[in-house]
Amino acid sequence: MKCVLCGGKTVQKQVDYKELEIPFGKFKAEACEKCGESYFDEHTAEEIQQKSKQLGLFGLAKKTTVAEVGNSMAIRIPKDLASFLSLKKGVEVTLTPKSKHGLEIQA
Ligand SMILES: [Zn+2]
Repeated sequence: MKCVLCGGKTVQKQVDYKELEIPFGKFKAEACEKCGESYFDEHTAEEIQQKSKQLGLFGLAKKTTVAEVGNSMAIRIPKDLASFLSLKKGVEVTLTPKSKHGLEIQA
C-alpha cells in the first residue's frame, strides 16, 4: 500500500507499539519506508484496543470544564485519569504551557 501521509511505499513489518509510553509489544503492520508511519489492519487494531482496555489506558482523554476558585482557575481531573497519573491531594505538580492551546501537567 501507499503511505497516506507521505505517499511512500509500505512494507510488512513487526513494529513496536506503545501507548502513553507503555510498551504493548510487537505487532504486524504496514510500515512506511520513507516516514516510518505504521498502519495496522482491522484485526490488529482491535487487538491493540483490547490490550489498551485491559491496561485501563483506553479512553483516559476526557473533557472537563474550568472552574473559578478565588483568584485561580481550577480544572477537575477525572478519578481514573488521576489514579493513572498517581495524583493525590497535596501532591505538587508543575504546569507547563505547550502552546496557546496545550498544557502539560508533570507530577
Ligand atoms: Zn510515509
